[in-house]
Amino acid sequence: METEKMALERTFSIIKPDAVAKNVIGAIYNRFETAGLRIVASKMIHMSKEQAEGFYAEHKERPFFGALVDFMTSGPVMVQVLEGEGAIVKNREIMGATNPADAAAGTLRADYAQSIDENAVHGSDAPESAAREIAYFFSEEEICPRTR
Ligand code: UDP
Repeated sequence: METEKMALERTFSIIKPDAVAKNVIGAIYNRFETAGLRIVASKMIHMSKEQAEGFYAEHKERPFFGALVDFMTSGPVMVQVLEGEGAIVKNREIMGATNPADAAAGTLRADYAQSIDENAVHGSDAPESAAREIAYFFSEEEICPRTR
């Protein structure tokens, strides 16, 4: 019988300042690992205003942009690269909907987010954004591909 394999992918993830402040980094990492995603790069950073504005540049005309930058620079965050089969979609499923009020039970945002503005986690939404976002925070030397 033929086994169909999804592509081994990398995605970019942020544990946002609200979740770091709640002391749930380990709980969130546990969700990633339980779902079969490997953490292949990870660091804690406190983003500068310029770093946050550059990261969210696609949203710069949106009314919430200023508040989003203020929030993302309000405290430390964990940034990580997750690797696994179908990692981009899998991580989005683990995260749940942008607005925690709409997030399915058992997702990270249902469990740890309080509002659409402070919603615990970020995850890339497509292969192009994943590549761009990973390169924004990590050099290739910082990424350890354990599955290769
Ligand atoms: N955001 C916000 N207010 C809104 C919509 C979005 O503060 O009304 C923020 C929120 O932190 C969200 C981010 O902007 O996670 C990016 O929005 P997007 O629609 O891309 O959602 P995501 O990909 O994070 O689910």
